[in-house]
Amino acid sequence: MTSQACSFAVTVPSVASPLRRHRNLHVVRAQVEPSEKSIEIMRKFSEQYARKSGTYFCVDKSVTSVVIKGLADHKDSLGAPLCPCRHYDDKPAEAQQGFWNCPCVPMRERKECHCMLFLTPENDFAGKEQAITLDEIRETTANM
Ligand code: SF4
Repeated sequence: MTSQACSFAVTVPSVASPLRRHRNLHVVRAQVEPSEKSIEIMRKFSEQYARKSGTYFCVDKSVTSVVIKGLADHKDSLGAPLCPCRHYDDKPAEAQQGFWNCPCVPMRERKECHCMLFLTPENDFAGKEQAITLDEIRETTANM
């Protein structure tokens, strides 16, 4: 399987993987950062959807930040917030199809977010927050 070129991509191994595996988040960053506007849109969306779904952000906010930026990048490049934690053979076709546009179908149907953006309270790595600021996103991804 191949991944098309993009400026920002995130790969998270699997659903409910331990945080130690999230240390293995594969973050591929090129020269282009997602636009500030799209980061803000996806930040607000993430806060609202966490509240709506009764889920929480990861105790490690850098996980949250990286996923939000990955979603923002896809919003910029594809026009839709395609899940940034997967590989796709054809990203535009996937974005058009919609199954993996955030919130994806597994999240909507079963509260399964393999990116660890939205964690149910019983998840060992769920924090207590449903909010993240733009400054937090900037600070936690500054050295990536
Ligand atoms: Fe990816 Fe689905 Fe999580 Fe959104 S809800 S970040 S699309 S796994």
